[in-house]
Parts: sequence; structure tokens; C-alpha cells
Amino acid sequence: MAIGHAFVLDQKKLRTPKVKLTPQETAAEILRFKTAIALADRQLSDLKEKLLPEGQQGQDHALILEAHRLMLHDPMFDYEVQRLIREEAINAEWAARRVSRRIKHQFDNLDDEYFRERRADVDFVADRVVRNLMGQAVDEEVAVPVDAIVVAHDISPAEAAMMVKTGRVAGFVTDLGGVTSHTAIVARARETPAVVGLGRASEAIRSGDMIAVDGNSGMVLVNPTSAQLSLFQESIRRHQAFEASALKTADLQAVTTDGYRLRLNGNMEFPEEIPSLLAHGAEGIGLYRTEFLFLNQVAPPSEEDHYRCYKQVLESMGGRTVTIRTLDLGGDKVPGKKHERETNPAMGLRAIRYCLQHQELFKVQLRALLRASVHGPLRIMFPLISGLAELREARSQLEACRSELGRAGMPVGRRTPVGIMVETPSAALIADRLAQEADFFSIGTNDLIQYSLAIDRQNRDVAYLYRPLHLAVLRSLQNIVQAAKAAQIPVAMCGEMAGDPNVTLVLLALGLDELSMTAGQLASVKRIVRAVSRADAQALLEKAMAFSTAEEVERFVRAEMERRFATLEET
Ligand code: PEP
Ligand code: MG
Repeated sequence: MAIGHAFVLDQKKLRTPKVKLTPQETAAEILRFKTAIALADRQLSDLKEKLLPEGQQGQDHALILEAHRLMLHDPMFDYEVQRLIREEAINAEWAARRVSRRIKHQFDNLDDEYFRERRADVDFVADRVVRNLMGQAVDEEVAVPVDAIVVAHDISPAEAAMMVKTGRVAGFVTDLGGVTSHTAIVARARETPAVVGLGRASEAIRSGDMIAVDGNSGMVLVNPTSAQLSLFQESIRRHQAFEASALKTADLQAVTTDGYRLRLNGNMEFPEEIPSLLAHGAEGIGLYRTEFLFLNQVAPPSEEDHYRCYKQVLESMGGRTVTIRTLDLGGDKVPGKKHERETNPAMGLRAIRYCLQHQELFKVQLRALLRASVHGPLRIMFPLISGLAELREARSQLEACRSELGRAGMPVGRRTPVGIMVETPSAALIADRLAQEADFFSIGTNDLIQYSLAIDRQNRDVAYLYRPLHLAVLRSLQNIVQAAKAAQIPVAMCGEMAGDPNVTLVLLALGLDELSMTAGQLASVKRIVRAVSRADAQALLEKAMAFSTAEEVERFVRAEMERRFATLEET
């Protein structure tokens, strides 16, 4: 959260000149285009240097700028622009625009918001090339006033990175973008409040307006009243106090008053989240959603890309366990090419099903994981397992990769635990059998609840039925935990439910060994664990499960929480 004066960026839209050439002129035009690409490449590399004088710090920026450099040289862009200049005899600016529009159009056809947002990256790269062709200035430092809230139609990750670096920006507000747009990622990694995708904020807000930004709720107050302002200031104060005490408890263990020890891990999508997870006390990574590696890539990442990333994550975690989930792609998140839309993607060719049918893609990741396993304690986890045959097939592919690597003389770790996400009702029901062949379980409640209660997790109309404390969910969880205990394998939870402090007592009672969540949730959950006994939690769960409706269970658990934690601020 932040309060400051708006600084609205003046972003004049670039008009692309359109010129028809004679066939004799095209060779020189291609040369002009290549020069602009080379210049863009150098600019991005200079920018990276400028932003990263201290090496490690700010790797997120570096990766994004590096990705933009790769896009410059992607044949879909580079080659296609040259082809248009040659075949249609048009100027380079026009050709670059047409090609970038075509690439963006392909992203438009994807249903998944995350992949659609990559359109913005195509624009940032194409804009830079067009400006270079036109001899316009790029990467000019904007003189942002101290503590300004920067308001803009859109901000490129490079601009956002440069502005954050000045230490003057208190927050960002943009018309375009979503949670996974790069600007949002840069802001989040730097803990700078940002609200993106507001539609017309840059028209509605004027430079100098007083603005309050709440990045958690996505709220922006423009010229708030003094009453609103003091409420907001109070929230900031409470949040800061909570954050300060959270950071102080980061090194404490999550252990109950009667000695039950829970491991609290972090969920991550991007390596740049690691510093914040560690600062908030994550004991390891419980879920790394590797499908996010497809960020910026029109083609799937190579084995080297996977390997480098996993190695970096393992090394940054300094000997703590890292659980890497294999690709949860499919449905609408299909890399590279357009595909036929499934009627029901959530129940379609997704996650492990997709990987088992696209062995080449799968094996690239498995080989990289095995190679990375020499760099630290790694656990491999397969998503959406619905039966034993899938687990066996996935394991046998992993073993085949291990043999291949062995024959090629590549070093691999010897004992990498292989576990599964328990997130389908079928897996929950046969958890006892799966536990015989999995080294650990991690319960994906986001999917488990959606499938158990037949609630599409994306559908707002049925969101009211999405109830983690539904008796069917609790019984399912009980069954999974008991199966894991009987087979003596660790059982974790990494769905959203794991980080919800309102249900921590329930999870404690169920007997989970590990909970995995985002950085911001770790402290609240830990406080609760440290303030209660497991015996107390078990008594509470027994009473809760005597109720029949989700509403009754929720009401009971809420009342019990309030009774115990009325004195714990912000839990
Ligand atoms: C889950 O389903 O709970 C989970 C953690 O996986 P995702 O949210 O990535 O589907
Ligand atoms: Mg899932």
C-alpha cells in the first residue's frame, strides 16, 4: 500500500510510417532493419548492465530483458520482417508492425490470460525496433519526482525496472496489464505496490492528484477525503507493523505448544520470488509451477533453459528442499501452436496427461530435472495424477531419461524423491494404493475442491459453492493423510487452502506434515501454529466434522478462531 502524488507519464503513440519501396531498395532496407535489431540488442544489454551493477540483485529484471533480447532474434519476428520487406517491398517500420501484429493476434486466440498478456512483450520489443529505425530516443530516464505514484497507459518492464531502481517510485497504476504482466512481476518482486489493468486510469488521473494504492485489493483512491486517507494510513501502519513482526518471526519454527512440528514452505512461479520467500521464513519450496517457464517463449524452453533455471533455484535456496512440479500445461495453456479448443479444458488433456502424450516435451523437462538434481535437494512432483498407471508411466519415463543421461556420462543425483499432487477425487479415493508407489503427496486443494464439488474454479456464478470446509473435502483430506501416514510418506498441501490462516487449525488437526503458500501468508499461519496445541486442534476438528453443511462447519470454525485469537492482531 502506498500514498503519493500521481505522476502521469506522457506516452505519445508512435505513428508508424508506411512506404512502398522499389525492388532495388529492399536489400538496403533489410540492412537498415538488421542495424536496428543490433542496436536494440545492445540497448537491452546495456540496460541490463546498468540495472545490475551488483550482480545477484535484481535478477528478475535481467531475465525479462534477456527474454526481450531473445524475442528480437526469434525467427518468427526477425525472419518474417525481412521476408515482408523483400517480398512486398515495404519499409522496415511497416513490416515490423505487421509482423508484431500477427504475433499478437496468435496470443489473442489463447484463452489463458497469462499467455495472452505476452502480447505486451511483443509490443515492447517491436516498439523499440521501430523507434530505432526512426532514430527516436529510447530508454530515456524519466525524471520521476520522489515518492510519486507513476500512472501510465502501459509501462514496459524495462521502464518499470529503471524507475524502481531510482528509488523514487512509491507505486504504479496502469490501464493495461494483469497479474502476470511483466511490469506487475517487476513491481511485486521489488515489493512496490502496483494496480494494473484499470482500463482508463491514465485518462481519469491528473499529475499531482493525491492517490492511495492498495496492491493487495487492487484499489486506487483518487483525491481521497481526509477520513478515507486516515483510514488508509491506519491500514498502512497496521500492515507495516505486521510485516515487521512477521520478518522478526521468520526464523522461528512452526511448532505447536505440544511439540507438533509443521514445515512451512513457499509456492513460487518465478525465481525472483525466492528472496522474499526466504525473508519470510520459507523452509523450502513446496510447489514450483514450472509452466510459468513458458513466459516470453513462443517456442518451448530447451533442456538447457530448464536446467539453468532449476539449478539457479536450487542454488538460491541454499540446501533447502525444492519441490518442482512438472508442467501443468494443456487445456488452454498449450505452447507454440494453436490447437483445437476443448469443450471442457479443466477435464481435458492437461498436466500429466498432456505430458504423457507429448513425450518429447516431457522428457526435455525430466532430463533437465535429473541433471539439476546434483545441485541441491530436489523433489519431483507430477500434477493431476488420476490413477496408478499414470504414476507408473511417468516414473518409467523418468527412469528412461536417467539411463539415457547415464549412458551419455552426464552426472545425475542418485536419490530424487518422486511424489504426486493429489488433486483429483480418484487419487484421493485410492490414496492408499498411490502411497505405495509415491515418495510423497502434496494435496492440490484448488483442483481437488473444484473436482470434488463439481465447481469450475474459474466460474464466478458458482464461486459461492467453492467451500474448502465442505464435509466432502474434509473427509477426502482425512483419507489422503491417513493413507500417507500408513505408508509412512510425507504429506503436504500446496493449494490456496494451505495458506489460509482461518483453516490452519483444521489442517494441523488433520496431521499434514507440510504446508506450502505464498510469502505473505507464512507469518500468519506460523503464528497460529505456535499459539495452539495439536490436541486442541484435533478436538476442534472432531466437533466441526459433526456438522453437516459447509456453512455450519465454517461458522463453528470461525467462532472458535475468534475465541482463541481475538488478541492476535491481523491473523
Ligand atoms: C492446486 O490445484 O491446488 C494447485 C496447487 O495447483 P494449481 O493451482 O497450479 O492447479
Ligand atoms: Mg492443480
